[in-house]
Amino acid sequence: MPLYEYYCEDCDGIFEVLRPITRASESAPCVVCEKAGERIMPTSIAAFTLRDGYPRKLPDKGTFWHLGKEVKQRNRGRMRAFEHPEINKPKPRPRPSKGDREVANEIRNLRARERDKMIASGVRPSEHHLPRRLRKP
Ligand SMILES: [Zn+2]
Repeated sequence: MPLYEYYCEDCDGIFEVLRPITRASESAPCVVCEKAGERIMPTSIAAFTLRDGYPRKLPDKGTFWHLGKEVKQRNRGRMRAFEHPEINKPKPRPRPSKGDREVANEIRNLRARERDKMIASGVRPSEHHLPRRLRKP
């Protein structure tokens, strides 16, 4: 059986109903208030299912809809209008260059030297002087 979408005016939300094609055009009871909801076409969803100006869907799970996909969070921050962090995964950071690796090595060496000096002078090195594997989780 195909899935059809219906709109409840009272709840101002959309819900889905599985039913035979022959009954697709009949109204369906709203999943929230049980009032009759009218069938809508998928293309009209974006037009009027809004939560705080963003599409919503019934039963209301508190989720938002972004370009027809369900997301937990509203699109905030610096994403561009048609992107969403849960859909358009941010690109992985570029691999560190040879220069970056050299700088990181230098920092590690300096830390190690500092740590050795502290141990030699009887001072217990603080957490951030320890190599990562020896730090408390
Ligand atoms: Zn309703």
